[in-house]
Amino acid sequence: RSKHSGKDRFTFYSSDLQSVSDKETELERELHMAAQRDEFFLVFQPQVNMRTHKVVGVEALVRWQHPERGVVSPGEFLPVVEKTGFAAVLGEIVLDKAFAAAKSWQDAGLDFGRISVNVSPAHLSSGMLFEQFKTAMERHDLAPERITAEVLESVFLDDHKSGHLSTLKDLYEMGVHVELDDFGTGYASLTHVVDLPINGLKIDRSFTQQMLEDDRKEILINQLIHLARSLNISVVCEGVETEEQYDRLRMMGDFAVQGFLIARPLRFEDATNWMSETAEDLYFVF
Ligand code: C2E
Ligand code: MG
Ligand code: MG
Ligand code: MG
Repeated sequence: RSKHSGKDRFTFYSSDLQSVSDKETELERELHMAAQRDEFFLVFQPQVNMRTHKVVGVEALVRWQHPERGVVSPGEFLPVVEKTGFAAVLGEIVLDKAFAAAKSWQDAGLDFGRISVNVSPAHLSSGMLFEQFKTAMERHDLAPERITAEVLESVFLDDHKSGHLSTLKDLYEMGVHVELDDFGTGYASLTHVVDLPINGLKIDRSFTQQMLEDDRKEILINQLIHLARSLNISVVCEGVETEEQYDRLRMMGDFAVQGFLIARPLRFEDATNWMSETAEDLYFVF
């Protein structure tokens, strides 16, 4: 719309602005209600080492079972969550449900490696994260070594303000495995890999997806894997969807992959079945 479409434009514009903030307020209200009604649930996606064919981790991903809209993905509500105090509320729910799942797999003798939870920037700076971790670990009797915290590297940009780093250090020193998620996007800096208290990298799926068409992406993945190995840092390559990608990655060495080719994010019962059935046969599948 041009600047000169007059009254009509103004009405349209202002009501549109209005509706954005209205929608956010409404969504925030709905989110709090959803928490009270226990409408959040987790799906789980395995990460598999290509050499050993072992499950090295299972990532917990949040979903919202909305009464009218059905299953809602985090992309639709996380931006609002991040702007409000709800990040620590949702974060605590996710920790509790994720550790409960891990505990039940552990009790069933299923080898899930580590349970991986996504930790949002707002949750990290809430000042509640570390205590929530400890409480949930105690409640479910889960050792820190069985847990991964996935953090976006962008959270370290303004650390002097937020204290993200000290919270992360606390987790790391307690023995929780810390991984940089979506590595290579945004403000990726290689110094992060040596300076931050981290145990692993998750190479962003955009690299995996462009790898076959763009040699430079493949070279980059290859070099990241070498760098990580030299530094004794673990690697998970995200978004592996095709056998071609898998075969190409497997030639690069000893690390893990995650993606629709291995398994889609699965509900708890399906993830449990996957681990007790499919995981046993991965050697024959790939
Ligand atoms: P992420 O942590 O990088 O998670 C991976 C996302 O990629 C998931 O989307 C997953 O479903 C999707 N994915 C996995 N394999 C493939 C594949 O082969 N191809 C493609 N195209 N996609 C694949 P999802 O579940 O929609 O989550 C999106 C993002 O939302 C996550 O990205 C994470 O940043 C955030 N998120 C998810 N769950 C949580 C949570 O419990 N807490 C927080 N703070 N953030 C979460
Ligand atoms: Mg993640
Ligand atoms: Mg990721
Ligand atoms: Mg992502």
